[in-house]
Amino acid sequence: MQLTEDQIYRYSRHILLPEVGGEGQKKLLDAKVFCVGVGGLGSPIALYLAAAGVGTLGIADSDQVDITNLQRQVLHYTEDIGKPKTHSAQEKLEKLNPDVDIVAYHDLITKDNIREIVRDYDIVVDGSDNFPTRYLVNDACYFEKKTLISGAIFQFEGQISVFKPHNGGACYRCLYPEIPPEGMMPSCQEAGILGAVAGTVGTMQAVETLKEILKIGDTLENRLLIFNALKMAFDSVKVNKHPECKLCGDHPSIQEITEYIQPECDIEDSAKS
Ligand SMILES: [Zn+2]
Repeated sequence: MQLTEDQIYRYSRHILLPEVGGEGQKKLLDAKVFCVGVGGLGSPIALYLAAAGVGTLGIADSDQVDITNLQRQVLHYTEDIGKPKTHSAQEKLEKLNPDVDIVAYHDLITKDNIREIVRDYDIVVDGSDNFPTRYLVNDACYFEKKTLISGAIFQFEGQISVFKPHNGGACYRCLYPEIPPEGMMPSCQEAGILGAVAGTVGTMQAVETLKEILKIGDTLENRLLIFNALKMAFDSVKVNKHPECKLCGDHPSIQEITEYIQPECDIEDSAKS
């Protein structure tokens, strides 16, 4: 594949970087990334990946745009209230960069479709805000041997990590072995979130995704980055592969994907990250 003249201009600020160059830009145009959720985290993730020219971008979200989303979900505008988030997101992303092929999944992702979806992509970025989805996506990435770029936000704080168990590294379950009981970890809807914190964490997930595609720098593989916006402080802790992990450990008890049960209304509510 050769870059067109328009592409050389469009991506010139990437191409100028010795770590990217024309070859790196071609890698981005060839890459396939699946973004789970186009809410608070998914908006900056999808916007930056589309702007960067990631050639195929899958987006999954079963929610509609609600007025309470607009404080942080920057892919959606006031006129989009009531529209499916995937439609609203697809419109903006296609306008931003016609080079990018957007594949929208409006149906809820479940144990029955997640592996098949994930299989089509190189990298999965999790921008969901509920535990059943996070575990589902982690397990699918493990079985399909895909790199998972994970992010989470709560009030003024965020966490980011990169999971590559197929590379000998930890998985999400090594860090969080069990789903916390319902109500123990309140959602954005229940606990609040500073909108720009979602933007900061989602943007850092996009950075890690681009580095993974380009194979440059040191990513957050086996590290958890913790961001505190009130203190404007970053901390990073090592994440080890857990030999007793039920999924990727020495004697795994999870042999196939299962559904993680929580009442449907709870999944709906907390998906509005
Ligand atoms: Zn694990």
